[in-house]
Amino acid sequence: MTEITGKPVFGGIAIGKVAVYRKTDNVVEKKSIDDADAEWERFENALETAKDELQALYDKAEKEAGEESAQVFEVHQMMLEDDDYLESVEDMIKSEMLNAEYAVSSTADTFAEMFAGMDDEYMQGRAADVKDVSSRVIRILSGISEEGVMSDVPVILLADDLAPSETVQLDKERILSFVTRFGSTNSHTSILARTMNIPALIGTDYPEEAEGKEGIVDGYKGKLILDPDEETLSVYRELLKKDREKQELLEELKGKENKTIDGREIKLFANIGAVSDVPDVLKNDAGGIGLFRSEFLYLESSDFPTEEEQFKAYKTVAEKLEGREVIIRTLDIGADKSCDYFGIEKEENPALGYRAIRICLDRTDIFKTQLKAIYRASHYGKIGIMFPMIISVDEVREIKKITEEVKASLKEEGKEYGDVELGIMVETPAAVLLSEELAEEVDFFSIGTNDLTQYTLAIDRQNARLENYSDPHHPAVLKAIEMTVKNGHKHGAWVGICGELAADTTLTETFLRMGVDELSVSPSRVLAVRDAIRKTDLGAMG
Ligand code: PEP
Ligand code: MG
Repeated sequence: MTEITGKPVFGGIAIGKVAVYRKTDNVVEKKSIDDADAEWERFENALETAKDELQALYDKAEKEAGEESAQVFEVHQMMLEDDDYLESVEDMIKSEMLNAEYAVSSTADTFAEMFAGMDDEYMQGRAADVKDVSSRVIRILSGISEEGVMSDVPVILLADDLAPSETVQLDKERILSFVTRFGSTNSHTSILARTMNIPALIGTDYPEEAEGKEGIVDGYKGKLILDPDEETLSVYRELLKKDREKQELLEELKGKENKTIDGREIKLFANIGAVSDVPDVLKNDAGGIGLFRSEFLYLESSDFPTEEEQFKAYKTVAEKLEGREVIIRTLDIGADKSCDYFGIEKEENPALGYRAIRICLDRTDIFKTQLKAIYRASHYGKIGIMFPMIISVDEVREIKKITEEVKASLKEEGKEYGDVELGIMVETPAAVLLSEELAEEVDFFSIGTNDLTQYTLAIDRQNARLENYSDPHHPAVLKAIEMTVKNGHKHGAWVGICGELAADTTLTETFLRMGVDELSVSPSRVLAVRDAIRKTDLGAMG
């Protein structure tokens, strides 16, 4: 039995088999070779395996999601048969005597650059495909089998860290827990674990040989136990049972009001990243959706999602919520949420870089497509829109001008839309300091404590080494929240919190005393926060 410590980011117990997730985008080394024919043969074999894998993926996707979804794999197969692509690889192997991995990687870069530079949106989108299919070949050449969780039984997933673009590909049904070496409390893997209601640890230095072993994750004490003995197993089985019983008690709060003992009521909403999270929202009896991280629609896709695709997604969510409010946050891409087909150059400081609303106000074509889709969906339910990473009043005025243009063009096209509340995320110190002025421009504020903590404390939320410094209870963060609430109310804007801190039940009373109007939390945390609200007495001395 081996015990490894880690930092818990979401409580709970998981017992099951361990699977180690290995990244496929390893850095490719450039090496000289002696035997070009043998290297070419190695490439040809990898090519055949890749085509077989793609055929299997095509068949699976066609069966499960229809021909349209399967087409991407056909495009990938065709790329692997392209004469120019093959010639480039062959030339590097046979004339330049370079290893196949490097030949493929370098060819992929050249082709991706060429596609990205074309004056045709469809072709630009193929840049990501050629990179994707080439990574498949490189992975096969490196002797790594197809990743993702292949096992049929649910597993404890160990990884260095997982980027949002990787988590979207995981089969969530088969994951009992996330354990990562790196990552941080507010990294998206942690947020995903909370959404999925499964225990998660970060900063856990597990051994590679963990693959396939029996494991236990203790998300309360921060422990990963490998090869547990019988006694330990039975202790944890008992704890798991108790957790389930506690959950059952919380279930009794379904249908109850989010009201304090002295009668103050507050809105309690849920955060989602995909249409598939909606059943959890409904199951946990949230009053609405306070944050729909729309960028996941973009991350799941290999090209810009069209107006029609987005409209369908937003409409489905609006309809399923049956009149309860759905607040859609416009695209918050950039920083850790990168998307190849956007063609964004690598930056020194991505968290302070070209991201979120900055991209949208620059690429108004992408922005307008999304806004049109959201406005059209507002005909089918109660929709609010909020904008991420705001730092100035001018940005908000510019956004409002664009929303007017979008509405005008929908009118012209004869497409219907409803009344939409407009709000902003308050997640930069600039927005906090300008909250009085900003409140005059919008209907509501939603405080993004994940980024607000990062920018207020000058601590990169992705940097695992700074985990011990990153304190969302820091008085500066709490003061910023209080100031935002006060200034919002002064000018008639309601104020919610949608960052992870909203679910911290040790702060529920503090937030209520500040006058926060709404808390939006992971679906799995709704009932625990309701419990905390109902146990609060604001009449008592605070
Ligand atoms: C936040 O910053 O608090 C937030 C809710 O947005 P995200 O975590 O997606 O950046
Ligand atoms: Mg944010």
